[in-house]
Amino acid sequence: MTIARIDPHTHSVVSDGTDTPAGLVAEAARAGLDVVGLTDHDTTAGWSEAVAAGVEHGVSILRGMEISTQYEHRSIHLLAYLFDPADAGLLARTERARSSRVERARMMVERIAEDFPITWEQVAEQVTAGATIGRPHIADALVAAGHVPDRSAAFAPGGPVANRTKYYVPHYAPDVQEAIELVRAAGGVPVIAHPFAARGRGLHPEAIPAAIEAGLLGVEIEHRDHDDDARAQLRRLAGREGLIVTGSSDYHGRGKVNRLGENLTAPDQLERIVAAGSLPLTGGGPAGVST
Ligand code: AMP
Ligand code: FE
Ligand code: FE
Ligand code: ZN
Repeated sequence: MTIARIDPHTHSVVSDGTDTPAGLVAEAARAGLDVVGLTDHDTTAGWSEAVAAGVEHGVSILRGMEISTQYEHRSIHLLAYLFDPADAGLLARTERARSSRVERARMMVERIAEDFPITWEQVAEQVTAGATIGRPHIADALVAAGHVPDRSAAFAPGGPVANRTKYYVPHYAPDVQEAIELVRAAGGVPVIAHPFAARGRGLHPEAIPAAIEAGLLGVEIEHRDHDDDARAQLRRLAGREGLIVTGSSDYHGRGKVNRLGENLTAPDQLERIVAAGSLPLTGGGPAGVST
């Protein structure tokens, strides 16, 4: 009897991680994972490479994406699993977010450059072709230019890419309810990522009820950004609402301290995701999940 090790939330160079999708899957195999979810920000461009690497390394791939959304101007990350990646409604929103992210990054670089000399070209050098750009890429350029020692320092309170600084510029993101409805319409499974991570101004008190009303199916609980209180509160909520519960590393390669498999999702919860989604698990690991 094997206990499936499932880590459903990771990032590659297709967004703000530092491993290629294939490299990430190889790392997942080394970390003893049976199933890994690739959930780059606002893009599915890494899926096919991850699936091919999954076949090679005997790892199942849970195809996903982490969608930038907002409720009352506060950022909410929405994980979406096993949806049609060509769905026009969802693609229109993620493509708009991706292009808005480029404009926003340019504006932030202009502001940051007044205090920390960097150029747009230096930032662009840090971004893999076609990737979703984010503040971590600006942080990487600041590191390369010697202004900060690492990404964490760039994100520290008051740092050049932190929230609530004079450098910060928001980007377009759909309302969380709209994104949830679009994920469901695309046959996917919406799961709120790290809802109680104390970033930005925190979660609006009405955000979770609004998300449930819109068709939310799950909530990420086991995540390094959640303390014991947050986890207990979320477990009560999930029990009351019958939500799928997940745990993950939110691995970003060398970009964050988060290690693959540091939090896991229970096999019965993955089964619920697969049952609710319109695509199967793919790659070379177990097609179903046994305990
Ligand atoms: P953005 O999507 O451009 O607003 O940037 C947010 C991203 O920055 C998140 O997805 C994280 O991957 C990353 N991030 C946030 N805080 C930190 C941190 N302290 N260290 C490294 N990366 C971080
Ligand atoms: Fe990220
Ligand atoms: Fe996130
Ligand atoms: Zn993430």
